Amino acid sequence: MSIETLVQDPSIPAESAPVLSSPYDSDEFNNSVMTTYARFPLALERGNGCRVWDTEGREYLDFVAGIATCTLGHAHPALVETVTRQIQTLHHVSNLYYIPVQAQLAKWLIEHSCAERVFFCNSGAEANEGAIKLARKYAHTVKGIDQPLILTAKASFHGRTLATITATGQPKYQKDFSPLVPGFHYVPYNDIEAIETAVSELDEGDRAVAAILLEPLQGEGGVRPGDIAYFQKIRKICDETGILLILDEVQVGVGRSGKFWGYENLGIEPDIFTSAKGLGGGIPIGAVMCKKFCDVFQPGDHASTFGGNPFACAAALCVCETIERDNILQNVQERGEQLRTGLSAIAAKYPNAVAEVRGWGLINGMELNPDSQTTSSDIVKAAIAEGLLLVPAGPKVIRFVPPLVVTEAEVDQALQAVERAMAKVMS
Ligand SMILES: *Cc1c(COP(=O)(O)O)cnc(C)c1O
Repeated sequence: MSIETLVQDPSIPAESAPVLSSPYDSDEFNNSVMTTYARFPLALERGNGCRVWDTEGREYLDFVAGIATCTLGHAHPALVETVTRQIQTLHHVSNLYYIPVQAQLAKWLIEHSCAERVFFCNSGAEANEGAIKLARKYAHTVKGIDQPLILTAKASFHGRTLATITATGQPKYQKDFSPLVPGFHYVPYNDIEAIETAVSELDEGDRAVAAILLEPLQGEGGVRPGDIAYFQKIRKICDETGILLILDEVQVGVGRSGKFWGYENLGIEPDIFTSAKGLGGGIPIGAVMCKKFCDVFQPGDHASTFGGNPFACAAALCVCETIERDNILQNVQERGEQLRTGLSAIAAKYPNAVAEVRGWGLINGMELNPDSQTTSSDIVKAAIAEGLLLVPAGPKVIRFVPPLVVTEAEVDQALQAVERAMAKVMS
């Protein structure tokens, strides 16, 4: 069923689904912008807190948050104040010069993680590229490995550049873009034997595993939390062999898991980790953070024109300080509990359709049964018609990633919308 038929269905109460009177002219859009995205037929033009409004004035509760990015929601007063002040003062200069706010942000991140040094860039893919380059240079210059391999997980997601689609263990993102970047090998997630086998069997001649790159919780791949015992054993293997443990914290980091970093849920520390999405609260910024071997990168080895500019760093520092000052992690934990409890209650009404509700903090997934006819996008479309924005994580998982400032009443309202959406789709 299309979104148009849903919102025009006369059986939907008017207050929950005002009919789109003059839908946004998507032809104009598609005639000028490359069609890389399958878009929902909505054009959003304004936001406040956890709510956004489309061009027809219709209000939505935003449980997508720019895909786990608008950490403080929309138009947060502290972020508005900070970026306004910064753009009036100095928004961009080159890394040819010292940028004091970049150091302030780096210092904050170091004080709130296991990292000792930070490199700033602009996105998750770019952060992972940086980590991959660092791991390769480490392999060549520290370990003497001529043909370093990086292990990544099946169903992972690490970005859309050539190296990061190669790192991404999902053929659908790689199809038609060969030749891919050599030097990656895939293992099933949460399977320690597969790691042990790969590490020993791939070590041959000039070739050896130099790094293991994993998400603490797989986001795009279906909201699958990492297993504690698995990560602890990987940590041990890495300590014994000098293989680098790189964690992709792009989606789960910066408070979303209920801890500031996803790895804090696993009782281990990575050697290198990356951040982006939630770090700038919607202002583009990425970071590569390292605990060990930070000196492997020397002047000239890596760079980014925009990376770490005053505007993005001021925004990210504001996001980080606000999370701490307003005790937002506690809200993430409590609202996450509330959401999972509510979703589990809804799931219990549809035992044939829903397989599982899972997640950490405010990154949660509701998985549909693999043999059910319903797809995650059926539920997402029905939820949009009920005034709730959601995003699929693969064909069978519905993802819930609201701003970290979401209130108890907003979670309740979202649960009611999910309930109505499920009732419509399942009827
Ligand atoms: C979104 C995402 C990326 C890619 O980030 P971009 O900013 O889109 O390049 C990488 N890794 C993970 C885990 C992500 O969720």
